[in-house]
Amino acid sequence: MLARALLALILVLTAACGRPLAPAERAFTATVLGPGLDADRVRIVRGNLIGGLRYIRPTRPREACREKILPPPAGPTVTVSTAAFVLGETVFYRRDLWAPDLVAGYPRTLPLADAMLLAHELTHVWQWQNRETTGFSPMRVAAEQAADDPYLFVLDDRPFAAYGYEQQASLVEEYVCCRALDPEGARTGRLRALLEPVFPGLEARETAMSVAIPWKDAPVRGICS
Ligand SMILES: [Zn+2]
Repeated sequence: MLARALLALILVLTAACGRPLAPAERAFTATVLGPGLDADRVRIVRGNLIGGLRYIRPTRPREACREKILPPPAGPTVTVSTAAFVLGETVFYRRDLWAPDLVAGYPRTLPLADAMLLAHELTHVWQWQNRETTGFSPMRVAAEQAADDPYLFVLDDRPFAAYGYEQQASLVEEYVCCRALDPEGARTGRLRALLEPVFPGLEARETAMSVAIPWKDAPVRGICS
């Protein structure tokens, strides 16, 4: 009971000090999560201490768009620093990743890595806002962290709801990557078929005039084919 009261207090206090979504963030988010996300209620906070949360995970297979847009890791494991986390409808960003507009320039240019992170975190807000159907709870997400890599997913024939909460957010993030770089790709189509029933209004194509990728040598052509 005390834990619940504390959590509620944290949610109220933190919601008060965050900023609402910027117009470009709202516009971009609508093309992914559609009307199922109540964007008015989202708050973005420039957080302290977040980068201090570091963990080691196994190197992932280079199958996903989100892996291929970055240089290959050197060893069997990578050390990762948490970029952001969500409490309710508030997203806490690592200080160096926060910006007044996280997708500034959209729809002229899509800053892909930033857009993927935003879509990932806002999927958690969507999970929370729709918890009567998603079954989302902070305890369940915490329980997922026991896995070696709760973000790793295998794209198969399961419905979206059968994936873990971090996997769901990763699937949305992956769709943002594939749609931007390879809208006609087979993987893009599979992701869209998986997401569309859950996110009505999901757009099939990226409308940004250009896409800014984090690694210039990334093998972009056919990246999701
Ligand atoms: Zn997540």
